[in-house]
This record gives sequence, C-alpha cells and structure tokens, in this order.
Amino acid sequence: MTRAAVIGAGTMGNGIAHVLAQHEWEVTLVDTAAPVLEQAVATIRANVARQVKKGTLPEGSVDAITGRIRPVTTLDAASDAELVVEAASENPGVKFGIFQALDGICGPDAILASNTSSISITEIASRTRRPEQVIGMHFMNPVPVMKLVEVIRGHATSDATTTRVMEISTALGKVPVEVNDYPGFVANRILMPMINEAVYCVMEGVATPDAIDTVMKLGMAHPMGPLALADFIGLDVCLAILEVMHKGLGDPKYRPCPLLRRMAAAGHLGRKSGKGFFAYDS
Ligand code: NAD
Repeated sequence: MTRAAVIGAGTMGNGIAHVLAQHEWEVTLVDTAAPVLEQAVATIRANVARQVKKGTLPEGSVDAITGRIRPVTTLDAASDAELVVEAASENPGVKFGIFQALDGICGPDAILASNTSSISITEIASRTRRPEQVIGMHFMNPVPVMKLVEVIRGHATSDATTTRVMEISTALGKVPVEVNDYPGFVANRILMPMINEAVYCVMEGVATPDAIDTVMKLGMAHPMGPLALADFIGLDVCLAILEVMHKGLGDPKYRPCPLLRRMAAAGHLGRKSGKGFFAYDS
C-alpha cells in the first residue's frame, strides 16, 4: 500500500491529493481550516467528474478516488505516510513549523517534500533531523492538467530521495525535471523576470496590457500572455516570489516593478480579486 499525506488543501493541495489518489495512493489531506477541507473534496469530486465525462477516467472514479482521500485537521494523522507533500501557505514560518513537526510525527523512512514556489528547500530541510530526505516537489497549477514537476534538491538531499521522487512523479503521469536549490529554482527564475518586465512596459506606457500580451502570444507562441498569467498566479504571489529572488540573489535585475507593488497594495491581485491587469467576472 502506498500512503501519502498532503498538507494544505487549498488550490495546490487539492490538486496534488487528486492526482495521488487517482494513482492509487491512500491520501491523508490535512488543513487547519475545516471548511477548506470540505471545499477541497467538493472540488476534487467536480474535477474527477469532468475527467469521467471526457472519457479520460472510467465510470465510478469519483467515489473510488475520493474514497482514498481522508480529510483531517491534525498533522498527527500524517504519521503513517511514506511520502508527505506540503502545500500550505507560502510563508517561511508556517513551512518551518510544519516540517519540524512532521520530522517528529513521521516514520524514519518517510520522504518530506514541499511544493513551495520560492522558499529555500535547504532552509526547510534544516528544520528537520533528516535533511537528506527533504526535497522540493513543485507541481504546476492546475495540478491534474499540468505535466511538469520541478524536483528540487536541497543542499543535503540524497540521491536515493531524488531518485524515488523522480520515480513517483513519473508514476503519477508527470514529467519530473531535476533542479538545484537556488532562489526561484528554474521555473520562476525565468518566468518572473519576464512578468516583471511586462509590468514595467505597462508602467512606462510602452503599450497597453492587451497589446503586450498579444505580442507575446502571437510573436513568441506563448499560450498565455505574461500579464494574463500574472493575474492567474496572483499579483501578490508574483511580488512575493520576486522579493525572494531579489533578496536571495542580491541582483537589482530582480527588483519588483513599483507598479506591481502598487497593484498588490491596492488589492488588485488578478483573477482571485476580480481585477488585475484585466477584469474578471466573479
Ligand atoms: P492556498 O492559500 O490556496 O492554500 C494553502 C492552504 O494551506 C490553506 O488552505 C491554509 O488553510 C493551509 N494551511 C496554512 N497553514 C497550515 C498548517 N499549518 N497546516 C495545514 N494547512 C495549513 O495556497 P496554494 O496556492 O495552494 O499554494 C500552496 C503552496 O503551493 C505554496 O507554497 C505556493 O507557493 C505553492 N504553489 C502555488 C502555485 C499556484 O499557482 N497557486 C503553483 C505552484 C506552487
């Protein structure tokens, strides 16, 4: 039997639990907020039902997959997991606390993975007595759809842990790519400066948001323009990742655009707030 725990049942956590349960893992899904757990299970049911309707999963999958997910509010329930994937809020203090606790709760062989977008895996691992078994498993949003898993080796992550996580990711139908632990890893190190530059183009009046996104879609064959993508990710999240890269790499080329700061401060966060570079219906 393969047992996993997913910590945090928000946007990413429910997707990760969905994909693990779809591939026969028994999943303990932990969130401190009970309503989030209820919402997560409802989201997974709806997403699996959509896959059944499309014919990509067999009839009966909704009950089979959700039947393998146990929603709970206490971290202790992760004690029997072979693999823990942490997808709690992107806050260093929250993640450090969770990993320190998991180290005491989980069996000695358990692998502790984090889905963090930007926090150092090495620093997270240093909160445990098993840094060789701590690794980044950076899934992309929406998890059931996106193929990539950025597998991030911390300074002390062992070859055995990396190999196992690459194997697990492949068995989940994903394409894992191994990278090392530097601020932003690879995905955000390259994506965020592009988004930031697009925001500078808006601030300096080089072109309208619509024109900038059209240039990148039609000229560079990007499926989504950088500003629509920033709205999808959340402007507060983009700002937080750029701050980590700016601080961690010390290079002014990563400084967040003042317009990005201003929009985040105004609560214009993109899709989730209904307004960012573009407007969205609720
Ligand atoms: P989210 O805010 O939707 O969900 C986070 C959840 O964590 C919340 O439900 C919250 O109640 C829960 N939580 C907070 N503290 C907890 C604790 N101590 N124990 C258990 N649960 C706790 O956030 P999200 O967008 O799902 O992001 C989760 C992680 O995934 C972050 O590290 C983020 O950087 C990363 N990530 C996000 C995206 C994205 O597009 N949203 C993409 C890749 C990676």
